[in-house]
Amino acid sequence: MIKANNPALKSWVEIPRNSDFTIQNLPFGIFKTQHRSPAAGVAIGNDILNLAYLHEHGYLEGLDLPAGIFHQPYLNEFFALGRSKIREVRERISELLQHDNNNLKENQTDRASALIAMRDVQMLLPVRIPNYTDFYSSEEHATNVGSMFRDPKNALLPNWKHLPVAYHGRASSIVVSGTDLHRPKGQIKPADSELPVYSPSRKLDFELEMAFITCGETKLGQPIHVHEAEEYIAGFVLFNDWSARDIQQWEYVPLGPFLGKNFGSTISPWVVTLDALEPFRVQGPEQYPHVLPYLSIEGARNFDIVLEVAMKAANTEEAIVCRSNFKYMYWNINQQLAHHTVNGCNIQVGDLYASGTISGPSPGSFGSLLELTWNGQKTLHLPDGSERTFILDGDTITMRGHALKDGVRIGFGECTGKILPALK
Ligand code: MN
Repeated sequence: MIKANNPALKSWVEIPRNSDFTIQNLPFGIFKTQHRSPAAGVAIGNDILNLAYLHEHGYLEGLDLPAGIFHQPYLNEFFALGRSKIREVRERISELLQHDNNNLKENQTDRASALIAMRDVQMLLPVRIPNYTDFYSSEEHATNVGSMFRDPKNALLPNWKHLPVAYHGRASSIVVSGTDLHRPKGQIKPADSELPVYSPSRKLDFELEMAFITCGETKLGQPIHVHEAEEYIAGFVLFNDWSARDIQQWEYVPLGPFLGKNFGSTISPWVVTLDALEPFRVQGPEQYPHVLPYLSIEGARNFDIVLEVAMKAANTEEAIVCRSNFKYMYWNINQQLAHHTVNGCNIQVGDLYASGTISGPSPGSFGSLLELTWNGQKTLHLPDGSERTFILDGDTITMRGHALKDGVRIGFGECTGKILPALK
């Protein structure tokens, strides 16, 4: 039992009802203020606990942490200490925040310095991301896309239930929530045109995904066993894999996604630890045909995390256009990492492994506009009376997610971004 996960814990920090950041969560992120350089923090209620300050003032004593480990622009060096050290730090933070612990609570100076209102900080990318991979692990999503573009009777390709399909994405264009992106331009081939044209994308889409971040590295040639995979995973963020469907459709054969995907991807700023998600484990879908032994793993390997996507036109209310759940994934994170490394591919600290679009069984749970509007054949209605098939300039897409059980809520905060007009 991880002590910090105890549902009975209460904090002396005021935590609003339905807050994503309860005392049982304690996710890690990187923040900066007007006067302070980037540092690591933990979210609690509407505040951030400054880990660099706590470390420098003796509150993390006995944990054997390197000097300056939290006074950094990224969490990579902290994560590189491994899962057990991440757990020790989270347990200590939990103790310091418990209502009957007076160490920080009763020290007015340290309390005022260590606890910073979220509204006064800017969140940055939590990790420097050396590598990014995007899986394709939702059976419903793969089936929808296969039905639309190939054949509804053979929607899944023959390999799909034998291995977790993925492609290598672009790490340099991953941005933190709140970063606006310009509509991408490129080659598209309109249906009524014999030749491709150069144009801003006319089919700009989001993809609702989650991504795990690694806290270990392997040597080239060394595979990760399916049962060891979780030791290499620090936690999760929300992930919007923005996609230009028209660019993608023209370019993707035979080598897969390229410019339709790499113009930008957005992540939420808080890394929710795998430890915090322990109570929310559930069985994944039954896998048949049986997988090869190197992918075989029993137990509750999925996570019950409620997900939603909101779409908002400029100057209006948002509309929830999708409600899904991370538990629908056919392939789990253990299988993804085992498959990724089975050939000897090495992993690095801070790597990002995205799930692929998370679609559920019902139309309201489809995780992309491509599926929600069935490639533009249906329209979505927004509160201002306007209609959408794909994203228009000025639209904001916001993803949210949380797990809820025994009165404990573990949330991810927001993964949001606005689309600006294409640059001239
Ligand atoms: Mn994707």
